[in-house]
Amino acid sequence: MKAYATFREIQHDLQHGTITCRELVRHHLDIINTKAHLNAFLSVYEDAALKQAARIDQKISQQKAGKLAGLVVGLKDVLSYEDHPLQAGSKILNGYTSVYNATAVQRLLDEDAIIIGRQNCDEFAMGSSNENSAFGPVRNDLDNTRVPGGSSGGSAVAVQADMCRISLGSDTGGSVRQPAAFCGVIGLKPTYSRISRYGLIAYASSFDCIGIFGKSIDDVALVLEVIAGPDEFDSTVSKKPVPAYSKELTQTERKTFKVGYLKELSTSEGLQPEIQKNIVAKLDQIKAAGHAVEPIEFPLMDFILPTYYILATAEASSNLSRFDGVRYGYRSKNATDLLSMYKKTRSEGFGKEVQRRILLGTFVLSASYYDAYYTKAQKVRRIIRDKTKEILKQYDFIVMPITPTTAFKMGEHTNNPLEMYLADLFSVQANVVGVPAISIPCGTDQQGLPIGLQVIADDFEESKLLQFSDLLLNMN
Ligand code: GLN
Repeated sequence: MKAYATFREIQHDLQHGTITCRELVRHHLDIINTKAHLNAFLSVYEDAALKQAARIDQKISQQKAGKLAGLVVGLKDVLSYEDHPLQAGSKILNGYTSVYNATAVQRLLDEDAIIIGRQNCDEFAMGSSNENSAFGPVRNDLDNTRVPGGSSGGSAVAVQADMCRISLGSDTGGSVRQPAAFCGVIGLKPTYSRISRYGLIAYASSFDCIGIFGKSIDDVALVLEVIAGPDEFDSTVSKKPVPAYSKELTQTERKTFKVGYLKELSTSEGLQPEIQKNIVAKLDQIKAAGHAVEPIEFPLMDFILPTYYILATAEASSNLSRFDGVRYGYRSKNATDLLSMYKKTRSEGFGKEVQRRILLGTFVLSASYYDAYYTKAQKVRRIIRDKTKEILKQYDFIVMPITPTTAFKMGEHTNNPLEMYLADLFSVQANVVGVPAISIPCGTDQQGLPIGLQVIADDFEESKLLQFSDLLLNMN
């Protein structure tokens, strides 16, 4: 099959009958089969996807097809798809089947997208390497000894290896942007509240965001405009009208933007030198193209990661209390009474990292430490938000790395959780603040591993963010 740069080109060929949805689905299914060793998919809906493709081929011939007709999509194992298995990469949801569609999934289906399968991820979206899944790790297609990033590792690899055109993942602290960077694809985390969380398994509700993986900005823009917007099932979703992102992308009058970058970029010790070099070179290119590029100070940098890990674990400990062996999935067979059923189910059902987070979260919420940790972190979150928003009033974008290193080796950080948490150093700010952010490919390191560049914009400025990202990608 021809390598399509954008879904628009696929749509063109579908309209002209040069390809069919069935052929498209077959193409992706073949890759899923030959690349099974990557462990990116937990379920593949082969028959259903082929049937759906045939149905949509017919609709196309009758000119009745939706906006996403022929778009082959994979779903991270945290998104509800009615009558399909859903486990959040965890043993505790063994045997669980979704009873309804997540709003984002429903909107994809309404526009005739084809869902090809369920993608592996870190258990309950907790992790940065996809090594915390109860179904085993996912491998990076560029180097099978390396991680794809996490927690949406399967979703990133699926797009990287062309197992589907688009993946939906979730980004609570970087889980779309970080794996996108490790796999050399685009990963967008929209503004918090832009996309309904209805049907998304909760990790940390005040941070959780559905995000989009793709290979072109145009594809990502198109999917965003379909799945974003008000939803009666999630009261936290913004009522702001959804712009036609994909149209606005093509309507750019050549604007110049004002870009801020972290002053510490050239001195940051933990940053891989090639990432620093590539980003500085990109900033030079941006400047040469006529945009204003200025260093900015962000003295609160050291506080962002602890704030995130205190608040996210607190919210997780509360959200995950519902998995008790009674309501969903797995129940321990070794229980003797009700209390031991709760305890044994949770000890046997949750993996090590999830247990660590529940303990941490329970600790920071406990009566004696609540003020010292939880309340304090809430206050710091507000200060970080105010300070970031102040910068975004003066600058159109903040440009910074998304990861301190390129894809690391499997097992490299598994024995040291703190080291693993440090992989999120640059990704959590956008979640702590709630603003939209994207990771786009920005060259490779000496070993040929992809480097990601992060661009952060102000609340609800996805359109501008996508336009600028497109500009950056075309600068090479
Ligand atoms: N790596 C971060 C964590 O483990 C982010 C996860 C996410 O965005 N779901 O919390």
